[in-house]
Amino acid sequence: MSLHAEDSMNSAHSGPCKENPCRAGRSWEWIESILRSVVDGLLVTDSNSRVLMMNAAAEELLGVAQTTLFDRSLNDFVKDRRLLKRLREAVMKEEDGGRFEFELGGHSGGIRIVSITTSVHRDSEGVAQGSVFLLREITRERELDRMKNEFITTAAHELRTPLTAIMGFSELLLTRRDLSATLQFDFLTFINQKAENLSRIISDLLDISRIEAGRGLELFREPCDINDLITETVGSYRTCSEKHALEVLLPEERIQLYVDRGKVIQIMENLLSNAFKYSPQGGVVRVSARSTRGAYLLSVEDEGIGMTREQVSRAFDKFYRGDASNSAVEGTGLGLSITKNIVEAHGGRIWLESRKGKGTTAFVALPMTRDQQEPESGIQELGEH
Ligand code: ATP
Ligand code: MG
Repeated sequence: MSLHAEDSMNSAHSGPCKENPCRAGRSWEWIESILRSVVDGLLVTDSNSRVLMMNAAAEELLGVAQTTLFDRSLNDFVKDRRLLKRLREAVMKEEDGGRFEFELGGHSGGIRIVSITTSVHRDSEGVAQGSVFLLREITRERELDRMKNEFITTAAHELRTPLTAIMGFSELLLTRRDLSATLQFDFLTFINQKAENLSRIISDLLDISRIEAGRGLELFREPCDINDLITETVGSYRTCSEKHALEVLLPEERIQLYVDRGKVIQIMENLLSNAFKYSPQGGVVRVSARSTRGAYLLSVEDEGIGMTREQVSRAFDKFYRGDASNSAVEGTGLGLSITKNIVEAHGGRIWLESRKGKGTTAFVALPMTRDQQEPESGIQELGEH
């Protein structure tokens, strides 16, 4: 933390100083260490915009090298002209209790959004002596807000599409008496599929709101033959695409896991739907499993569009979609986030390996023991690189 000349310190602690300078020094050190540990940026000026104090967090946000502040004005520290103007204005107008947001160019080229709160510090007579600025980075919050807004638009669209189809086909069934039995059957099958889509989206929304509220996912575990469960789930995907070849490689031996059946099906469905959706040109989708280091290691591999490193690092964030444009494939950006929660609730681990343009493999390691409160150390190591 950088501090201005001793006069400002002494005037702030004139009482103890006269009596015992050592004690005053110690109490200043104490205050300094408290201010240093404040995670938000703190910047204090006098009424002429001279900087009296700046903590490390403020230095980091403003990109200022650690320095002493003897007689230096705001101009020496704040390189952004618009921000400088705004801060000087706040000092001049003795702005008290104001708040504004500002976009700062980050050191690595990215934009950082900072919320700045202003207040006035006064002497014992109540005369303004300068300003105190509290700087808090809110880049992550703003990014989350943006993703949430995008999500609301996507979710509304995702809900309306199947609903429009359900309404259209049911209306046809109600108004057209001349439809053949085969056509009626086809329409009803279509309506049923769309209703299932709707139900899946609504379950995802309920799951995510339960997780958000900190209530977590409720698991109903039972001993379960995992190979059978995977074979059953994969079976329903066999006929869903002509462009894809579905390969399944499961271990020979019978393996019982203590899991929530419905939730494991949900894991499989999310990973399989991604493998199909994100390999629009087709190719092999391979589901493999083996037992290793006390874990059942399942993988779903595709030869699709793949992901960049940045996309991989964000794929499990809720609402995240690699491509959120109108032409993007359907989805709400909740699948992997929910899947991760389910896997971790089972004491397991999930991770992705991907190469842009080559394909993606999703790995899930589930513990083979019943005691699944904490991830097994073997499982921890499986996901490490
Ligand atoms: P939802 O699963 O809710 O219907 P979604 O598929 O967009 O929507 P997630 O499953 O959470 O959401 O995936 C998040 C993002 O990660 C996707 O939008 C996509 O960009 C990327 N992604 C996930 N799986 C793959 C994959 N197998 N290949 C390429 N990109 C993928
Ligand atoms: Mg998905």
